[in-house]
Amino acid sequence: MILNFSEEERQFLRTVSDWVDTEVAPCTRAWEKSTFPDNIWKRTAELGVTSCVLPKEFGGRGYSCATYAEMCRIIAKGDPALSMNVAAINALCVAHFEHFANEEQRAKYLPGVLSGDIPLAWGLTEPDAGSDARRVKTTATPIPDKPEFFHLNGEKMFITNGGFAKLFIIIARLDEKNLSGFLMEKDQPGFEDLGRIPTTGVSASYTLHFKMNNAVAWHTPGSFEDVTGLLFRGRVGIGAMALGIAERALELGIEYSKEREQFNRRLADMQSVQNLIADSAMEVEAARLLVHKAAWMYDQGMPIVKEASYCKLFASEAARNVTNRMLQVHGGRGMTFDYLIEKLWRDAKLTEIGEGASEIQRLIIAKQVLR
Ligand SMILES: Cc1cc2nc3c(=O)[nH]c(=O)nc-3n(C[C@H](O)[C@H](O)[C@H](O)COP(=O)(O)OP(=O)(O)OC[C@H]3O[C@@H](n4cnc5c(N)ncnc54)[C@H](O)[C@@H]3O)c2cc1C
Repeated sequence: MILNFSEEERQFLRTVSDWVDTEVAPCTRAWEKSTFPDNIWKRTAELGVTSCVLPKEFGGRGYSCATYAEMCRIIAKGDPALSMNVAAINALCVAHFEHFANEEQRAKYLPGVLSGDIPLAWGLTEPDAGSDARRVKTTATPIPDKPEFFHLNGEKMFITNGGFAKLFIIIARLDEKNLSGFLMEKDQPGFEDLGRIPTTGVSASYTLHFKMNNAVAWHTPGSFEDVTGLLFRGRVGIGAMALGIAERALELGIEYSKEREQFNRRLADMQSVQNLIADSAMEVEAARLLVHKAAWMYDQGMPIVKEASYCKLFASEAARNVTNRMLQVHGGRGMTFDYLIEKLWRDAKLTEIGEGASEIQRLIIAKQVLR
């Protein structure tokens, strides 16, 4: 499937690609040891990376889902953690403003979001609510005499970019049946930072655990289904991130197999190694087609419930398989920190877990196919 991009989108993707080559990829190891630099969200805002899908009428770039997917893929080739953050910020956070915020809320926050002064994060997961997102316990209680404002009480964990974020989109419970989205500033007495969560992969991301004790938040009305419906396009972004990881791993494996010699021949000339490379090349290509198809359908205004799951599930398992095979091609060196393949192998794991684990994607697909 050939995706069509406007000239502006093509130019944008070229700019992103140059930026990844010069400012992202060379830093991936250093960022993993600490986190992104302080200016990261200013820089991404300047490039249009964090406003890629926001319509032009709201000050964004208004690019297609296909462009968003390509951007996530390209960034993942340089730094998977940054791709994960960018995917979530676009599809879950900025898109929340587009779909659920009112004029006043947009006027207050969007200029800061677009300039990079207000980094965002999206908070659904809690200690007792992961795959079963409807178990969210965080409560939202109306504040008397302050229409549209609520007190939030509860705990959120695994929140991507939580360390940098100044504003959170929080999913909280209005009553026994209803959940909805809220805008919550970090800088307030009701916000309690419970610390960064170190992770084995994508660890440059500042993943946060926090508590809300009567934290003041502004309601952005929308049902739970509507708010979490943003995850469909989000999954295309994570699928594209997985595709970028798999592509990079394959490149590294091919390169290494052509350099290393054993038994007086290159690894690339040995059939067992060729099989690892052939299977990987095929999975990368199949993942690409599923990512492109889901993005294309989204851009045509078609529902992508099933296709978003196909692409995220397949691409994430391809990323796992390809990084694993290419680490094998690297032999013992693949297990050292001198070779990037081990990092990609660890980073790939997130794509099988975040934004709905693989088992949940299979449940979604089965439900669609069996109905
Ligand atoms: C690095 C990182 C970043 C993240 N960023 C964010 C973020 O920004 N915002 C946010 O809200 N969340 C975020 N998450 C949370 C992520 O979305 C959850 O980890 C994920 O949804 C799984 O939930 P859980 O970890 O509670 O696992 P659980 O739900 O406890 O699941 C554990 C295992 O059981 C399986 N399982 C559960 N239910 C079923 C079922 N019905 N049938 C079959 N198998 C099942 C799961 O697939 C999984 O394999 C992040 C997580 C990580 C690791």
